[in-house]
Amino acid sequence: MEKKDIKSMTFLELTKEMESLGEKPFRSRQIYQWLHQKMVTDFNEMSNLSKNLREKLEESYRLTNLEPVEIKVSAIDGTRKYLFCLEDGNVIESVLMRYKHGNSVCISSQVGCRMGCRFCASTLDGLTRNLRPSEMLDQIYQIQKDIGERVSNVVVMGSGEPLDNYDNLVRFIRLLSGEDGLHISQRNITVSTCGLVPEIRRLAEEDLQITLALSLHAPNDQVRRTLMPIANRYALKDVLAACREYYEKTGRRLTFEYSLVKGVNDNLNEAAALAELVGGYHGHVNLIPVNPIKERDYVQTGREAVEAFRHYLEQHGINVTVRREMGRDISGACGQLRKSFIDRTKGAEV
Ligand code: SAH
Repeated sequence: MEKKDIKSMTFLELTKEMESLGEKPFRSRQIYQWLHQKMVTDFNEMSNLSKNLREKLEESYRLTNLEPVEIKVSAIDGTRKYLFCLEDGNVIESVLMRYKHGNSVCISSQVGCRMGCRFCASTLDGLTRNLRPSEMLDQIYQIQKDIGERVSNVVVMGSGEPLDNYDNLVRFIRLLSGEDGLHISQRNITVSTCGLVPEIRRLAEEDLQITLALSLHAPNDQVRRTLMPIANRYALKDVLAACREYYEKTGRRLTFEYSLVKGVNDNLNEAAALAELVGGYHGHVNLIPVNPIKERDYVQTGREAVEAFRHYLEQHGINVTVRREMGRDISGACGQLRKSFIDRTKGAEV
């Protein structure tokens, strides 16, 4: 029988487990703290438990730990890109960005992705598997331990479509924000989605205070379909209706992500259509000059055209920012460190 994943359990579940092992109730608090606050990597480090109990834990549970295999540090702004190895040998990527307001970590939610967005490196090899809650958490735990500073913000914007891994995502958010764990405020957690309508609706009912970011990337279905296959499944009007529902139920303002691709979605008519589309949402538009990947021939919108696009939106009352490029010297688009690692190691094998 496969061992149970102890780091993915809620405090309540862990308490029940300890009861069934015939342990005193206070043990579950001790163990939970070792896992989620002291972030130990071995049951033997749980020094206030008896040897006997530590052995019992070892027998019945698996303790998920990610192994850093590569860390790249930007000389410009201190951004750190991590490549982690999972227990089954798969690798995933996470990024630490240092801002004045605190340390922000961008995590992956899946190994690969099956959404197929045309400009994205994470989806080139399709989906390998979902990440478990413990594997999402441990990206943050490892990074917090590595830098010896508190992580204050988490964005689920790395590889994967978080709402395609729904149950694990919601459990992860509860574990991360719970007061017995790292206790990161839900208001400081952002989940980015390509727009899975039923899951956005479901998320609105979870009673969470996280920020929802929608990857819009086009002001109409026609252009959106050329960039994002998911746009063939859900029409923009339905995606936006689900987002409105999210806003109305949670009171959380929405973020709209818009990657600017030269000659595809970046002219001023498109800015006008975008202003029209999101004008009624009290949301925020985040423009991202597309990060070109070598497998596709998309080109980044030039600086002046980005400025013109931003200016147009601003003039029309839209709250807009251009995403600052972090770690330019160690960069490459999201998912590219992983991709280059896989290509490199594949190359080494043959
Ligand atoms: N699956 C989620 C998270 C993906 S990554 C989603 O679709 O939102 C976070 C954001 O980066 C998304 O808006 C995604 O479309 C965008 N993105 C991915 N690759 C990019 C690239 N090469 N250049 C610019 N933006 C990119």
